[in-house]
Amino acid sequence: MKTPDIKAFRDRASIEPVLREIARRASRLPSPFRIMEVCGTHTMALHKYGLARQLAETGLDMISGPGCPVCITPDGYHEAAVKLLTETENLVLASFGDMTRVPTRVGPIRNAVPARGSQLRIVYSPAEALEEARGHPEKEVVFYGAGFETTIPAIARTVEAAGETKTANFSVLGALWLIPPPLRALLESGKTAVQGFLYPGHVSAVIGTRAYDFIPKTYGLPGAVAGFEPGDIVLGILSVLDQAASGRPVVANAYGRVVRDEGNPRALEIMDRIFEPCDALWRGLGEIPGSGLRFRKAWIAYDAERKFRLDVRSSADDVAGCRCGDVLRGLLSPPQCPLFGVSCSPDSPKGPCMVSYEGACLVHFKFARRKGTPHV
Ligand code: SF4
Ligand code: SF4
Repeated sequence: MKTPDIKAFRDRASIEPVLREIARRASRLPSPFRIMEVCGTHTMALHKYGLARQLAETGLDMISGPGCPVCITPDGYHEAAVKLLTETENLVLASFGDMTRVPTRVGPIRNAVPARGSQLRIVYSPAEALEEARGHPEKEVVFYGAGFETTIPAIARTVEAAGETKTANFSVLGALWLIPPPLRALLESGKTAVQGFLYPGHVSAVIGTRAYDFIPKTYGLPGAVAGFEPGDIVLGILSVLDQAASGRPVVANAYGRVVRDEGNPRALEIMDRIFEPCDALWRGLGEIPGSGLRFRKAWIAYDAERKFRLDVRSSADDVAGCRCGDVLRGLLSPPQCPLFGVSCSPDSPKGPCMVSYEGACLVHFKFARRKGTPHV
């Protein structure tokens, strides 16, 4: 298959006519027309390429959704990781960097004082954590990571590899989340006013477009899967507006060079072999049926939650005054949070949305330090 020339998706001369079409169509729809960009990577791209401002001028209101696993992981997980690191000797907690900076009632993981012989290690993949375990059989190595369907297949494959190599000193504390259930929960709540969705390109590459079919069918809302180049995003938005104008909502695929209707069967299969769906608690959204994954019985030996008797569900509210929960439900634009840029900044974050590289608050702080309007 010929690799498409990515330059075309960044080319201003190609993008501007699409923006003009968007403006033309948006002018015929009720204003503001709200589209939720589900994933933080879209939020980042919209602001980084200046599209957020240009779209706002056309009457479109792009709102951030619950699509950042770091942001939606409740503090109970981070606090359990702190407990593990501070109370277990000879343990390596191997974690993605942003997970270690989220503030909690007991401080962020990176400030925790490890127990004797223990340490925190920043890793870039679960496979790196498994390598650590194989190189240090005298230590327990726990991989701590949050992820959606994009990251979960790699975690599942690492667990499988630990099984194949009989690496008994390796386990996973996984905050594993599925994207479709929270979208249903947001729509069922009736509080988040959206007229369309921009679905995440990378998650959709795994789960496929069909995973969102319930949105047009049950809720009558248009949507499009889009990639992360500016050209991808504007084409996705144009499709959403076309659907709204015609009154025929579907799940359009504006990222056909990567996403298939059926997703990636191999990735789905390995996820399903190691994990099974369970009800899960989300920051800001509460408990959502079938929205998380837990280890299947056959793989329970690699479940750090069970191995170390951790309680990840302990009640842990956002730090006082932090409105991350509202930001994640699309109820509040980050600059509307009273702490935004006052006591909360990337150097001194009060919530995960200011920590994660693609958290909505960090993106707004970095690219758009201006007051917004609440999305209610
Ligand atoms: S951490 Fe970043 S890349 Fe990963 S899902 Fe969140 S926003 Fe997307
Ligand atoms: S600006 Fe800071 S305190 Fe406010 S919601 Fe975002 S992360 Fe939380």
